[in-house]
Amino acid sequence: MTESTRERPVLVLNAGSSSLKYQLVVPETGEVRARGLIERIGESGSDVPDHSAALQTMAERLRDEGVDLDELSLRAVGHRVVHGGPDFSEPVVIDDAVLDRIRELSALAPLHNPAAAIGIEAARKRFDVPHVAVFDTAFFSSLPPEASTYAVPRDLAEKHQIRRYGFHGTSHQYVAHATADLLGRPVEELRQVVLHLGNGCSASAVRGGRAVDTSMGLTPLEGLVMGTRSGDVDPGLHAYLGREAGLSLEEIDTLLNKRSGVLGLSGVNDFRELEHRLAAGDPDAQLAFDVVAHRLKHYVGAYVAILGGIDALVFTAGVGENSISVRAAVTEGLEALGITVDRARNAARSTTARVISPAGASVAVAVVPTNEELAIARQTADLVG
Ligand code: ADP
Repeated sequence: MTESTRERPVLVLNAGSSSLKYQLVVPETGEVRARGLIERIGESGSDVPDHSAALQTMAERLRDEGVDLDELSLRAVGHRVVHGGPDFSEPVVIDDAVLDRIRELSALAPLHNPAAAIGIEAARKRFDVPHVAVFDTAFFSSLPPEASTYAVPRDLAEKHQIRRYGFHGTSHQYVAHATADLLGRPVEELRQVVLHLGNGCSASAVRGGRAVDTSMGLTPLEGLVMGTRSGDVDPGLHAYLGREAGLSLEEIDTLLNKRSGVLGLSGVNDFRELEHRLAAGDPDAQLAFDVVAHRLKHYVGAYVAILGGIDALVFTAGVGENSISVRAAVTEGLEALGITVDRARNAARSTTARVISPAGASVAVAVVPTNEELAIARQTADLVG
């Protein structure tokens, strides 16, 4: 690889239905040349009518910042795609057939895949370089059948591609490797439980760098309690709400995805705001916090059992990286599993990866910032050479 190739950045795009997140990053060094977010795409009153226009807006903003995309000799574009379905277990160079397949997988991710496909289509027209899709589900394609299979009739599951796919995979994979680096141990030796706690939350059990279980399933609704999502409920709740509350399936879906979780319990979905209310003695905030922590503990215990032990418990994403109280509550009382946290280390503010368990503890408890854009840029560069 020539020196100039090494410096050529990858453009990482994350297209939502009305938004486009972008980052220009040099995979080898992690240097971020530029980043930004364009919102309200296609909404009334917005001057960004569609994703092609959003890419134009992005190029103009970058030029204002002194970055000329046409002169830059972009190496490739890496696209974050939420659902890879049963097909994609690794990043893939995008051609027409891949794009069609991403579109077809919209049934499994109706909110996400159509937007990603539109973003890819616009970007392929704009940038004549290799485009790579990096899937949020890919890391979990290694789940063993006993972890990925729902106990529903097999013919139905096969017909409708019903299984546990998992999400946030790019983050879990990146963090599992970054934790091994932090601990100075080969990832192959480690049994890790990774807690990705952002607006969406998921837990994974990782053995030797490969995922063996995860808390999100067919959709990103299963598992942990999240900002607005319920996570696990009795599946019987759906029928009960239909009968007793007269809600339609769509209303129930919206209720559990958008109006539940921390928001449903406390009235706020942002975790910082929850902590302010907690400090002010709000009992609803206290209950929400306790439910979040209880569910987290439930999954930590489950995954220690699945892994047959644990070497590292890792916190990442907005809440995991920043909330001292969540980390304290989740780890409290887990001494029997070897999990302890040093109070001062946990309370120390830092933006870098760090160990917060006491020196010499048998289980490392760590806070490891995630970086999905860098992970996507690296996987993209690896694939296109
Ligand atoms: P996303 O899933 O959208 O990528 P993030 O990983 O950025 O989300 O996490 C967002 C969450 O992190 C929000 O609930 C936010 O309140 C929380 N958060 C960010 N900073 C802090 C902090 N200092 N203390 C507690 N929570 C925080």
